[in-house]
Amino acid sequence: MKIVLLGAGGFIGSNLVDNLLRETQHDLVGIDREYDKLAEVLAAPICPAALARWRFHTADIRTDMPLVHAAIREADVVVDLIAHANPSMYVTRPIDVFDLNFTQNLEVARLCMREKKWLIQFSSAEVYGKAKSEAPYLEDQSDSVFGPVNKQRWIYAVGKQLLERVLYAHGESGELRYTIVRPFNFLGRRIDYLVPPGATGGPRVFPHFMSALLSGGQIRLVDGGHARRAFLHIDDATAAFRTILDQPERTRNQIYNVGNPDNQLTMVELAHLMAELFEELTGDRPTSVIESMSGAEFYGEGYEDGDRAPPDISKMRALGWTPTRNLRDTVRDAMLFYLGDRALSR
Ligand code: UDP
Repeated sequence: MKIVLLGAGGFIGSNLVDNLLRETQHDLVGIDREYDKLAEVLAAPICPAALARWRFHTADIRTDMPLVHAAIREADVVVDLIAHANPSMYVTRPIDVFDLNFTQNLEVARLCMREKKWLIQFSSAEVYGKAKSEAPYLEDQSDSVFGPVNKQRWIYAVGKQLLERVLYAHGESGELRYTIVRPFNFLGRRIDYLVPPGATGGPRVFPHFMSALLSGGQIRLVDGGHARRAFLHIDDATAAFRTILDQPERTRNQIYNVGNPDNQLTMVELAHLMAELFEELTGDRPTSVIESMSGAEFYGEGYEDGDRAPPDISKMRALGWTPTRNLRDTVRDAMLFYLGDRALSR
């Protein structure tokens, strides 16, 4: 198959490219504004035959839609990973978040309809909103609960959900063939980037805690760190994607939670686990102090923290996929990536 990956240069995209190039015979076309993470993937030894199946275009879908259209025309499947996924942006640049995550991605979906291509759309676990109970989220049954409009954090979640609803509607009318993936906190090599010591806002929780441990700065728990998340090893996430890719008919117009319900913990627990692993992996006792900070202070006015229930993954299990990596291994692998030479040789 010929696969076009929009957003190939990000955390998930670079891990998918790595896997697809090395372990499949598919032709890949990557499109992204960023190339650094892919450069790292391609710096490792790779056979010339695999490289011959790989093409990359540096492009921004907001300004280069004709290029995206040309790539979609040639594709069998289009994987859309494009999104601003940075919580501080949800409150400081909500229109940019909506424009990229909804408007531009809808344009991609329209091109897939026009060219009759299978669209694999990466959505978000945030479409469920705030957890109402401990009950695991079911793709086709759970309700969603979002905060009020003045809590702009929810523009990300609602934009993703609206995109899902539009894809669903086009699927129902027979105009679009799609599969939606709802990622639950993927974690692993190349996640985000290390933030400058002491920075607030920024990307996801892991790089914040990691950079605090490396610099000896404070580990900030937003609103006490009581929110729970379930982390999935990026290799399990890649395996889930391959499972979907290999079953185009079964996964037609379906939505899948991709996560590991057994790897759930609060952010306080994550901070302690990472501090413990830091000592185990480096031999150095962490000097970081753990402190709490309000969401408004950390991300900006309009942030609201949401607890999250674990995913129900029966639909993915029915396709033959199951997560294999426990929480400790998942966090340890991501830490080893950023520890580099500071990790003790083991
Ligand atoms: N968080 C935190 N400290 C940080 C960064 C994030 O306590 O330095 C919290 C954040 O408020 C949320 C959780 O960690 O409750 C996960 O946030 P992240 O942005 O990683 O993922 P998402 O909210 O999209 O699941």
